[in-house]
Amino acid sequence: MNLVLFGPPGSGKGTQSQLLVGHYRLTHISTGDALRAAIRARTPLGLAAKAVIERGELVSDEMVTDMLRSMIRPLREQTDSFLFDGYPRTIQQLHNLDVLVEEFTLTRPAVINLQVSDETLVLRMTGRRICAECKNTFNVYFSPPKNAGVCDVCQGPLLKRVDDNVESISERLRIYHEQSGPVLAEYESRGQLITLDGTEPSQVVFAKIGAALSEFY
Ligand code: AMP
Repeated sequence: MNLVLFGPPGSGKGTQSQLLVGHYRLTHISTGDALRAAIRARTPLGLAAKAVIERGELVSDEMVTDMLRSMIRPLREQTDSFLFDGYPRTIQQLHNLDVLVEEFTLTRPAVINLQVSDETLVLRMTGRRICAECKNTFNVYFSPPKNAGVCDVCQGPLLKRVDDNVESISERLRIYHEQSGPVLAEYESRGQLITLDGTEPSQVVFAKIGAALSEFY
């Protein structure tokens, strides 16, 4: 099984990824996480991507696709089941993923599209806090930690993503609305698209994804 998680920033892709990876034993590939790791490690890719990400813009299709290819390659011998989180984001990336699916002989992915209104997305992103240690996600408005700034699970410090500021968020939403239409239309026309209401509780969304996948595969 291969899955693509598609949806605007803040639609719950990270939370659903954790649930899906655990349940279906998928290998999680998040281009956003990988780019943030590259920034922390100060690799040439990270140095090139840092300012772009902080402004809320997209890293070039070529750079992010090269990165994705180099992530799949060493994993492919052990698995043929991936969860692509945050890729593709443009129609060019959709075509690039087709090439990668062929190149690595992967099964055609089901594309899960999480729909959430812009108003909710802004609250989700401005309120988002992520544990620096275990990566658990909290939200100061919807699911606050018991003690402010401290992870309930491992007591690690909770941090805000640098791109979760109002300017960057509105730019990311603008770009999402600009780029997502052709991607969704293409996957819809191929019968690969599963669209769900991403505002429901995460366990409900997860159950609905499961039901839709059992029909898809
Ligand atoms: P995310 O964690 O998926 O919200 O991604 C954070 C940021 O990383 C985005 O706002 C982009 O700047 C960059 N990024 C992640 N995935 C991609 C992608 N597939 N194409 C271009 N830029 C990306």
